[in-house]
Amino acid sequence: MAQRRLLLATSNQHKIQEMRALLGDIPFDLVSPREVGLALDVPEPFDTYLANATQKARAYAAASGMLALADDSGLEIDALGGAPGVHSARFGGADMPYPERFALIEQRLAGVPPEQRTARFRCVLVLATPPPDDRLAHVAGVVAGQIAPVARGAQGFGYDPIFWLPEQGVTMAELAPAAKDAISHRGRAARAMAEVLRAW
Ligand code: IMP
Repeated sequence: MAQRRLLLATSNQHKIQEMRALLGDIPFDLVSPREVGLALDVPEPFDTYLANATQKARAYAAASGMLALADDSGLEIDALGGAPGVHSARFGGADMPYPERFALIEQRLAGVPPEQRTARFRCVLVLATPPPDDRLAHVAGVVAGQIAPVARGAQGFGYDPIFWLPEQGVTMAELAPAAKDAISHRGRAARAMAEVLRAW
């Protein structure tokens, strides 16, 4: 019997790659927007991950007629009042290269004592069925760490090179993909979503 299909509602190739590894065992065929000929530019105007992810999941489900799974995620730095948070992808300007974003963060953290450089990655995943059903489910995942003064590592993506994991003694970008998946915000959320999908 053909498996049901699940559309990964994002154009971020890094997220698609991680979600494919994380959701490899569920009874669904995972497809990317590109594979079904979809190119959507969904605005993310809200100030919560849940509202943005819901908007993305519903837009992709409606456009494709398929079950769609969206991720909204970000880096929250306590000494910056939780910034960049939901605005992580656009911090410093949508086209600012990450090394420049790291420098900007370091500038804003000037004078903050090392023990107050705490941060976390947060990921919210929303599953949406296409209209007229319009059912929704959501889960979240968090990983705690600190902001490293110097970027290290070449794996992962985004802010991984400055996300220091004190217990492991490495940055997120120094972890192999499977090791990141085991502890990451996305890994935690995806394992919770896999349970939702198995029961779907
Ligand atoms: P959005 O969910 O598309 O709004 O973008 C999330 C942004 O948060 C990404 O573009 C990255 O800047 C950041 N981010 C989310 N997850 C990760 C991660 O696993 N590693 C590093 N940065 C991340």
